[in-house]
Amino acid sequence: MSAPTSHKTRKLLDHMQALLSLPTISSANPAIDMSNMPVIEYLAEQFSALGFQCEILPCASTHGHAKANLIATLGSGPGGLVLAGHTDTVPMDPELWSVNPLAVTEKDGRLYGLGSTDMKGFFALILEAIQPFLGQPLKQPLIVLATADEETSMSGARLLAELGKPKARYAIIGEPTGMRPIRAHKGVMMESIRLQGRSGHSSDPALGINAMEAMHDVLGELLRYRSELQQRYRNPLFLIDKPTMNLGCIHGGDNPNRICGHCELEFDIRLLPGMQAEELRTEIDSRLRPLAERWKVGFEFTPLFPGTPAFLCPAESDLVKTAERLTGHASATVAFGTEAPYLQDMGIDTIVLGPGDIDQAHQPDEYLALDRVQPCIDLLRGFITHYCL
Ligand SMILES: [Zn+2]
Repeated sequence: MSAPTSHKTRKLLDHMQALLSLPTISSANPAIDMSNMPVIEYLAEQFSALGFQCEILPCASTHGHAKANLIATLGSGPGGLVLAGHTDTVPMDPELWSVNPLAVTEKDGRLYGLGSTDMKGFFALILEAIQPFLGQPLKQPLIVLATADEETSMSGARLLAELGKPKARYAIIGEPTGMRPIRAHKGVMMESIRLQGRSGHSSDPALGINAMEAMHDVLGELLRYRSELQQRYRNPLFLIDKPTMNLGCIHGGDNPNRICGHCELEFDIRLLPGMQAEELRTEIDSRLRPLAERWKVGFEFTPLFPGTPAFLCPAESDLVKTAERLTGHASATVAFGTEAPYLQDMGIDTIVLGPGDIDQAHQPDEYLALDRVQPCIDLLRGFITHYCL
């Protein structure tokens, strides 16, 4: 057991307990997808009681489950700081957990629970961090943003981009980064290509159109396109400093003595900042469609999901410099995607910076180390002092 918990820690743990005990799993699987309204309502209640103006923005519901974002604002003005997080979690396997995933368990200097680190726990830290500022007039607004469906469709962030909300100058997203400021990540698109040929007896190639052979040409063209992209785009900020394309799976045909009538490929592309998924789709389409016409195969090219944009906040942004000064760490990049590009594209300089570690996320016995709690609260207070007072 750790040292006796103070009154302050008690309150923080109460908030965390409340947030984690309200399950808000988002999933493409209708059987396990849930509404995030209980957490949105809990946060709205808490922030309203502290004097924040709360606006609940309903998003498209999924599988009949209501989803919403929350924008809670204290103070007013043209600038302002957003502290942002998503309210949903990934699904879980309760049988693999050694503690109750839908509760906070304090054990071995850690706070265990689903969403402790990724990332409902961040809201409990915000509720604690804002305490000293509640009685004071703010020169610029402090905005808490809680979003829906980050783990699946990012529909919450997409809605914000459509509405142009919130209005602010700077944003910090408290995803697990081990307290290091992140100012860039790659984007991703996942695509599928279906070629429809015609099966026939393999003894005479003229009896059909071989979709697998057509796909062979498609693969060659995609790999040529990949090399061109890698010539065109480079960014030394990233460990893998070029865009990548992975040919992930391929299915086609059924028997060695039948002409392959149908072949299907799925692949992904990891985008560097500056690359737009829609532009790439147009280029891929214009390279592959004529090839399919030459082969006389049916050609379907469809995204498997809309894609996540790449994200880059300029190194010279005051937010990046302030984050580097307050944390003592140079800004860096991560391999995972976040909602940051949506905020950045609205003209809000954004960094990703939170108390958890990404290797704790999306797995059984997810936890937030207790020794991260106070440093994160102090850090948030540093940002609020710098941008709102
Ligand atoms: Zn997350």
